[in-house]
Amino acid sequence: MKKTFSMGGIHPHDKKISAESAIERFPVLSKAYISMSQHIGAPATPIVQKGDKVLTGQLIATSSGFISANIHSSVSGTVSAIEPYPDIAGNPVMHIIIDVEGDQWDESIDRSEEIVRDIKLTPQEILKRIADCGVIGMGGASFPTHVKLSPPPGKKAEILIINGVECEPYITSDYRIMVERPEEILIGARIMMKALGVSEGYIGIEVNKPKAIDVMKSFSASYPEIKVVPLKKKYPQGGEKQLIDAVTGRKVPSMGLPIDTGVVVQNCATALAVYEAVQKNKPLFEGVVTVTGDCTEQQRNFLLRVGTPIDALLNSVGRLPKDAAKLISGGPMMGKAVSNISAATVKSTSSLLVLTSEQTLRKEEGECIRCAKCADACPMGLEPFLLNKLARAGRYADLERERVYDCIECGCCMYTCPANIPLLDYIRISKADVLKILRSRPK
Ligand code: SF4
Ligand code: SF4
Repeated sequence: MKKTFSMGGIHPHDKKISAESAIERFPVLSKAYISMSQHIGAPATPIVQKGDKVLTGQLIATSSGFISANIHSSVSGTVSAIEPYPDIAGNPVMHIIIDVEGDQWDESIDRSEEIVRDIKLTPQEILKRIADCGVIGMGGASFPTHVKLSPPPGKKAEILIINGVECEPYITSDYRIMVERPEEILIGARIMMKALGVSEGYIGIEVNKPKAIDVMKSFSASYPEIKVVPLKKKYPQGGEKQLIDAVTGRKVPSMGLPIDTGVVVQNCATALAVYEAVQKNKPLFEGVVTVTGDCTEQQRNFLLRVGTPIDALLNSVGRLPKDAAKLISGGPMMGKAVSNISAATVKSTSSLLVLTSEQTLRKEEGECIRCAKCADACPMGLEPFLLNKLARAGRYADLERERVYDCIECGCCMYTCPANIPLLDYIRISKADVLKILRSRPK
């Protein structure tokens, strides 16, 4: 029996139709739009001005708080504006806009393809290099990596887990990285283990990616402290709490953090970014993005510079069909709808998914038939049918008692509901309200 997490979960079709498309370098376009809010925490502060010349990989905005991250130019050229520009939701966010001239890289970056195995930096130097290079979590949460690798006082890391699960349907960017850059991921994991002072590392990969498991296993023979753990295919196994449970059997407590179990989880794309930062002095200014959909002419995986306009990416997969109705950044379960296709990609963009009107059709909502399918599917042990009722009635004290704050917004409840009740829509809003109430309470 393959390992998996213990509670709930669902089995959507994985639709990994871009899996066999090797990573291709996407061309650098004539303009780059680089957002100052690419991470959780305070936006970065621009340190360049309109008219300045910048190089690819040059620092252009600095971290402005404990939880924040540096931002580097993904192109070379001239800063043409520093102004609000709409993000994927259409909200104005401060951007540095650069007119591209050639592609001249900062000379301190090692551009050779040679793999550097020897880790020379001390743990403190590793953390500083990761922070300097603006590395953030690439698995969706965009948390600055150097902060996550620095457990708070009183907490100690014992295990590092690299997340190679990629359980969201359609997305294949992590899969391609594991198949094409396995040793860099392992060295990135080893670097993070050195920074954390831990000697036990795992890479969790679901069994629907046998090639990634084989490749990672064969390379990990030279890295005996890191073991590949094949996992049963089940959504949302890529969630940190579910992955820790699946790999170690440890349970993150309610309202707790992964570090409460002694485990730190980092995505495999983050491990690659850490390798490049520490061994190559390369800041995080490009990453692999899947562009896919059942209705697109092609499905591809690109190595793409941060700040590339989304409409240009869409044009790269052929003509869109007339019934293309919705664009999602991320996967169909937890991704975000893109309402502005002129918006630019950010460090954590992993996928663009085109859905047809038929795929996005919301079926008519019926009455709850008390089947409890939503509760069976919930990986956090919640009762979504009850949370939905309480949320609609605005009963915040009851929502708190029912632990709405533990909802990871995975959508399993909504996916299974035979009455088509948009459970997560209501639960998500009430969770935000309850968290606001909890934070405003005197400690
Ligand atoms: S969205 Fe929240 S309530 Fe629904 S299944 Fe996921 S964790 Fe449970
Ligand atoms: S799955 Fe839907 S119908 Fe069944 S109990 Fe939950 S909310 Fe009600």
